[in-house]
Amino acid sequence: MVYIRRLEEIEKYALENNVPIMLKDGIEFLTKYIKDNNIKNILEIGSAIGYSSIKMALVDNDIKVTTIERDIDRYNIAVKNIKEFNLNNRINIILDDAFNVELNDTYDLIFIDAAKSQYIKFFEKFEKDLKQGGVIVTDNLSFHGLVEDESKTNNRNTKQLVRKIRKYIDYLKNNDKYITTFYTLGDGIAISIKK
Ligand code: SAH
Ligand code: MG
Repeated sequence: MVYIRRLEEIEKYALENNVPIMLKDGIEFLTKYIKDNNIKNILEIGSAIGYSSIKMALVDNDIKVTTIERDIDRYNIAVKNIKEFNLNNRINIILDDAFNVELNDTYDLIFIDAAKSQYIKFFEKFEKDLKQGGVIVTDNLSFHGLVEDESKTNNRNTKQLVRKIRKYIDYLKNNDKYITTFYTLGDGIAISIKK
């Protein structure tokens, strides 16, 4: 009960401070996927304040999450939140740019939720750490609906980002090593299963 209230407080903090945590139906979909597919070892790129890693770890007592965050302020808040949930033994948070991190473990699921312009690079860097039959999940492929309809923005940088996300979607569609399914819930989620 205390945990539910605390999760709501984290959601409120994120909303008020513009921390882009997963949307409600998106995180529900992801945690259900983790449960249904008996996922135990998870890697997350982009922890922010620890919300999604806590939600994923709470699915089952034997789930382990490794999560990477490069922003020190968000990292510090995440560490505090993870401690409050007594999850420090199951969530390993790393403060670094993901591109500097070398891991020596393999994962059932890799969740890519960091800089949208670098998605192909994240995918190619971390796919070697995926187990056979494992899955790569990507968030924000709709990017507030802009990927479907770019005319909703006039901002040059945003348009650039939208094009990069489209490129990533094509990359997933054309990647023969994976079977990718796109879901229009949350802010757009892809599930890529390694063949
Ligand atoms: N997964 C979180 C939200 C992550 S928001 C949740 O749903 O609760 C994206 C985060 O990725 C930001 O905090 C940003 O600082 C971080 N990030 C972006 N690029 C990164 C990189 N190259 N390495 C590590 N973290 C990165
Ligand atoms: Mg996201």
